[in-house]
Amino acid sequence: MKGFNTRSIHEGEEEKVKDAVTMPIFQTSNFLADDSKYASERSETFYTRVGNPTIGVLERKLASLFAGTGGVFFSSGMGAITTVFHSFLKHGDNIVVSKNVYGGTQSLLRELPDEGVEVRRFDQSDYGSITDLLDARTRIVYVESMVNPNLILTDIEAVKAGIYSSDALLVVDNTFLSPYNFRPLEFGADVDIQSLTKYINGHSDVVAGFAGFKNPETESKVRRKMVQFGTNGAPFDAFLVNRGVKTLGPRMEIHNRNALAIANYLKDRPEVLRISYPGLGRVPDCYGNCPGFGGVVYFEMRDRETAKRFMRSCSIFQEATSLAGVESLVTVPSLTSHASFKESELAEAGISPGGIRLSAGIEDIQDLIEDIKWAIKECVR
Ligand SMILES: *Cc1c(COP(=O)(O)O)cnc(C)c1O
Repeated sequence: MKGFNTRSIHEGEEEKVKDAVTMPIFQTSNFLADDSKYASERSETFYTRVGNPTIGVLERKLASLFAGTGGVFFSSGMGAITTVFHSFLKHGDNIVVSKNVYGGTQSLLRELPDEGVEVRRFDQSDYGSITDLLDARTRIVYVESMVNPNLILTDIEAVKAGIYSSDALLVVDNTFLSPYNFRPLEFGADVDIQSLTKYINGHSDVVAGFAGFKNPETESKVRRKMVQFGTNGAPFDAFLVNRGVKTLGPRMEIHNRNALAIANYLKDRPEVLRISYPGLGRVPDCYGNCPGFGGVVYFEMRDRETAKRFMRSCSIFQEATSLAGVESLVTVPSLTSHASFKESELAEAGISPGGIRLSAGIEDIQDLIEDIKWAIKECVR
């Protein structure tokens, strides 16, 4: 098999359209019934909700990068999560989920009981408790490989061992690491979901999602639901993601390197009470060969006001939600994503009021460190 970067560029693009070097945008809703010339690989290409050559190229490429047998492109990361959940969960079934997951997923989980689906939670650090939560109606066990915002890594092999005797699918949201750093399907996951909005597109100009699969039967169930729900992504967005993913490897190398340098700088600053970045410590075995741990760094200043002044004093790090683009961002979760949480709920989610999340972009590291140095000086005086 060719290397990751070679596949990021060429996989799925073997068939050329009118001698074009790269795959163009098929900005069309439908296709002539008898024109199968550019759709030879996918006989279902007759209507874009069902299939489209630009989307097909991206799906084959991402499936390869995810180490899967196939994959489905969605309008958003949440579109992927919603569709995967509803492909397997029926009235009377249950889903087993780790306590801390992405806010949008929490919101979806809160409403599953209204549809007759029971949600059973386990503490991310207590893998032993998973087995007790399983029964014959457990269809999905759902975790995130790296949890936001305090960046704890989930031991995917331990979760897999805990559900060994069950038929439940192991579904992993791997958005924070990207397939360049980690591939859950290689460690026993059945489905790897990622928000393409983050590292894979990487340029903060598309919202899209993807689910990669270990086997074709799982994929075909989800693909059917995608067509029924209309959670398909658009050809133009697939074109942009296909362009973005060609530089995923080189971008991740810089995100990884910049974040590690920032983490090392912050850990020696007396004003910083606590820092979390997986690259600084021991990691579960399944992450032993990761080239790095992405661009997100979480650290804590003494209180909310200090964190707010830090955020306002940055100039290269822009204050905005989301992460994983080429530009660096800063956010204070207790003021933004988790603003509605009480102190006790923040503590339960492992978030301090003075917690700050940085998303290191791919700017020059000396400029990023200067920005942080200045912001620390401003915020503590
Ligand atoms: C952003 C994100 C999502 C949702 O993706 P969208 O593309 O915004 O719908 C899901 N999971 C994680 C971990 C994310 O960071």
